[in-house]
Amino acid sequence: MSGKASFVRGVAYGAAYVERCRCALEEALGATPAYEAWRRLDPGPTLGPFDRLAALPALTKDDLRAHGPRGFVPHGRDLAAALHSGEVSLVATSGTTSDQVTNVWYQPWWDASEAASWELNAHARAAAGNSHREAILTSPWCAGVPCEDGYLTREQRTLGRFLYLTERSDPSTWSEALMDRMVEEINAFRPAVLEANPSFLARLSRHIAAKRLRVCSPGLIVLTYENPSLLHYRQIGRVFDAPVASSYGSTEAGYVFMECEAGRLHQVTASCHVDFLPFTSEHGGPAVGRILVTTFGNPWRALVRFDTGDVVRLDGPCPCGRSEGLTLAAVEGRTVNLTVTPEGRVVTQGEVDRALAQVPGLVEYQLVQVEPAAYHLRCVAEADDARETLDAASEALRAVYGDHASVLGELATAIAPAPPGKYRLARALKLVDADALLDTAYAPAAL
Ligand SMILES: [Zn+2]
Repeated sequence: MSGKASFVRGVAYGAAYVERCRCALEEALGATPAYEAWRRLDPGPTLGPFDRLAALPALTKDDLRAHGPRGFVPHGRDLAAALHSGEVSLVATSGTTSDQVTNVWYQPWWDASEAASWELNAHARAAAGNSHREAILTSPWCAGVPCEDGYLTREQRTLGRFLYLTERSDPSTWSEALMDRMVEEINAFRPAVLEANPSFLARLSRHIAAKRLRVCSPGLIVLTYENPSLLHYRQIGRVFDAPVASSYGSTEAGYVFMECEAGRLHQVTASCHVDFLPFTSEHGGPAVGRILVTTFGNPWRALVRFDTGDVVRLDGPCPCGRSEGLTLAAVEGRTVNLTVTPEGRVVTQGEVDRALAQVPGLVEYQLVQVEPAAYHLRCVAEADDARETLDAASEALRAVYGDHASVLGELATAIAPAPPGKYRLARALKLVDADALLDTAYAPAAL
């Protein structure tokens, strides 16, 4: 016995789900090269799959790079032949060279994972299907066609039923004409679904509100690619009369959580298992913690206990009635977005965001912890009373970080995303050790 606990108490899982977990575990440990070293830690089939998973290490991006895409293909599958026939392809994630990962991409599995996620939201179920038209507003380096020094025609940005609304990856430099074009294209294309980076769609929404433009609302807005701020929800809600759902996943793990019509995030139990690793009570546990994802049924990729690098907050039963798997109040941001109070308590991006969302007139922000007790806050504020907004924002942060925190506020006209086009709303210059926050009873084993 490993002595490690699995956080499954109070979580409902059907018998078929437990069997999918067992199969994923057997295939990884029994037939996939990357997990050979894990076998000695497996307590074996006399225990249920949750307890066996709890005894294993976490799989990191470094592991994915070290074993390469071939290391995660189960025995008996001919990757070279599948690549040759086009059944699968190799896809590198966007990101800097040092954290790029190459994945074996099997489109039918991805599509099934997406379809399963849409079952978790009534609006998504109604809007999707019948090859629905979808407009996408994200960094073109993540999806679409990038062109940073010139503009592309609508035809050049159309791929089948998808229209990519921008070829430019930095919303802080979008011209008025470019945003006018996006609105015209949404109105002409009339998408059933608008899928967007929340920060990108919030920028466009502010333009629509400022110029009092008319925009056609899609059946559903899906926020993805980055963790939405409450400010994004509010700015989007001012101009679009459509339900908004946040979809959470990753290139590696597929679709993992989907926001339901009641505003909670439900685990996509058809395509993945999620191990929850609570933080210690000092740092917000057991409701707040990290997650490890195990995928089900991808014939070309066995992924077990993959550390997505995200922090989540659990919630109780959801009024929508969906009960299988984990239910989240929110994705709290990434571990690289964590900051700490001068006394050493960890603060998630979500906690920062909830505090700043209360500040009237605040449009955008970016927080950097520069010293153990010093925080630098950049704010974009509405024109009237910008100084007052900045003071209120700094005050809101002092309420989070305490009396010993020194907050230096600065007004900005715009905030640019980090490459390849994702905003980092909060971070610390000195990275927080996310392993040290875990309740040791649930912390992954070391190899
Ligand atoms: Zn729900």
